[in-house]
Amino acid sequence: MSVDVHEVSVAFGGVTALNKVSLQLERGRILAVIGPNGSGKSTLFNSITGMVAAAGGKIAVDGVSIDNMAPNRRIALGLARTFQTPRFDPHITVEEAVLCGFYPVAKPGMLSSLLRSPGVAREEKTFSDRCSEILRELRLTKYRATKMGELPMGQVRLVEVARAVANNPKYILLDEPAAGLARDEQAMLSVEVRRLAETGVGVLLVEHNFNLIRELAEHVIVLNRGAMLMSGRAEDIARDKAFIDVYLGSSGR
Ligand code: ADP
Ligand code: MG
Repeated sequence: MSVDVHEVSVAFGGVTALNKVSLQLERGRILAVIGPNGSGKSTLFNSITGMVAAAGGKIAVDGVSIDNMAPNRRIALGLARTFQTPRFDPHITVEEAVLCGFYPVAKPGMLSSLLRSPGVAREEKTFSDRCSEILRELRLTKYRATKMGELPMGQVRLVEVARAVANNPKYILLDEPAAGLARDEQAMLSVEVRRLAETGVGVLLVEHNFNLIRELAEHVIVLNRGAMLMSGRAEDIARDKAFIDVYLGSSGR
């Protein structure tokens, strides 16, 4: 059971943003992707979720080709993602934002009508229970009724993770989920990500904090200018001269 990305390329105009990148994300595993800004990490996510068209290569989920599948059908196969810059309607509450994760294909206006329909009353109860559980795990319970527009950015990122895990995905792509989080929030997120993997979710993690990567991921892929610079065990990557030069050299971290 895996997401198989085989030599996927993406070009914007004449510029190659992703150049023949391959990876295998297995269920229950955490695979990290690291690389300087502009190296193609978010584009890799966009190509897997169908938000940009690939110029070449193949992607399959559990052996099913998704190359010609619309994003919502990919979600239905069990793929979920977070966005590097979460965008929520500032007027909805944290709870409503997480509930959006149960209706990934519904338009915002449809959510309220869906929730009012008697046919989904039982489902709604399940969703509401699951929502409470996720809010508790991510320590967001006290913000349940807070408007998204009033939340600190760290909590907005956690709500983004909560929304993505709401519908029990098989694979989750996390795009810099720990950016801007306080140390204790990062630690909590780290526990949550490990727990997700332990329950059988395949986690693809884009992250700049190498300590967090080392803590969570056995295997790391390093992207540079859209291409795979190297791939290997976190501890080996950390000692690699080329990694140190490219990563620490160009990102300034
Ligand atoms: P990263 O997430 O590693 O910082 P991105 O995947 O966002 O990098 O970007 C990789 C390259 O592709 C960058 O040069 C970026 O400017 C370009 N790019 C990304 N998305 C688009 C887009 N929608 N249109 C044009 N260029 C894009
Ligand atoms: Mg990015």
